[in-house]
Amino acid sequence: MKKIFVNVAFLVLALAMLPLASQAQSRKDKEQTVTIDQTYDVVKLQAPKGKKIKNVIFMVGDGMSLMHMYSAWTVNKGKLNLDNAQAVGLSKTYCANKLITDSGAGGTAFATGHKTNYHMVGTDVNGKPLPSLTDFANAKKLSTGVVVTCRLNDATPADFCCNNVDRDKSYEVAADYTTCDVDYIFGGGSKYFENRPDGRDLFKEMEKKGYQTPRKWDDLAAIKSGKVLAVFDTLDLQVPKVRGNILEKSSMKAIDLLSQNKKGFFLMIEGSQMDDYGHSNDLDMLMQEVIDFDKTVGKVFEWAAKNGETLVVVTADHETGGLTLVDGDLKKGEIVGKFSTDEHSGVMVPVYAFGPGAENFTGIYENTALFDKIKKLLKM
Ligand SMILES: [Zn+2]
Repeated sequence: MKKIFVNVAFLVLALAMLPLASQAQSRKDKEQTVTIDQTYDVVKLQAPKGKKIKNVIFMVGDGMSLMHMYSAWTVNKGKLNLDNAQAVGLSKTYCANKLITDSGAGGTAFATGHKTNYHMVGTDVNGKPLPSLTDFANAKKLSTGVVVTCRLNDATPADFCCNNVDRDKSYEVAADYTTCDVDYIFGGGSKYFENRPDGRDLFKEMEKKGYQTPRKWDDLAAIKSGKVLAVFDTLDLQVPKVRGNILEKSSMKAIDLLSQNKKGFFLMIEGSQMDDYGHSNDLDMLMQEVIDFDKTVGKVFEWAAKNGETLVVVTADHETGGLTLVDGDLKKGEIVGKFSTDEHSGVMVPVYAFGPGAENFTGIYENTALFDKIKKLLKM
């Protein structure tokens, strides 16, 4: 009896110490039932009539697939801001050396127009740095921005601002922000900006280059013009219930500042953490992240509809978790889903477009074509 007790105590301790991967293991292939606390309204938007494209807002749901959107549409009882999209296409996500990509190579494809190797950010297969859409936009004197909810040295933002053959060289990747010349940078990861092993303080370096460096919302909200490096957390931003609608607020603030440039702007916005909950097979948290992203899409589409000269493109770098809905109830806003992997899966991902030029995004194409299309439409 005593021996059994000791074993049970050990088991409880071991369970408490389970890392995310093992949590996923314990959830994998098991049905999870999810609803949300409160559904939200979706405004039906009129598509802008003009043809001129002055600005492009490129939005990425990390690890987002049609299954994620259909799940979110169901828990919100049949409404989703993304359904206002005027055109839809499919993007093939495989990378240079693997069928199933990661965010490094997946994002490098649409940021630079090149398929590269797994785990590389902003370089070709030989490690040569590649210019990204933000570099081309800078060269055309457009304003540029990057808004994410993960640490800034994470793969997707790094694909647009940094160049490294190894996305995990976190300190090296973060240091590239001091030379990327992007006007508005928002995300987490202050650990890699200050108290660094090499003694550099990237905040001080950026301030010398004229950047304002707010570390909380009130300070960012007060900024009326100029360059911004806003880093709000040590690592990734908190979960949606704790961080609130900061993705939406920081994205609209970016639009506010970048749209002061009469030549136009290019802005990348990422819902970064869907991927994390795909990896940990946590359907409840995944839905909270997808909904946070869709609410941000709603605000961006609304702004674009009024502005009339802004193209918004929404896509993903790959799918994460192999999510499948096996049951649900639209009236109750309930889904029953399960995951088949704690890794990325191989599937084409959706591309949604809204605003002038949206029609260019219908069809089936390589993820690199997103770069080609945007570069051409902005005449860069
Ligand atoms: Zn990813």
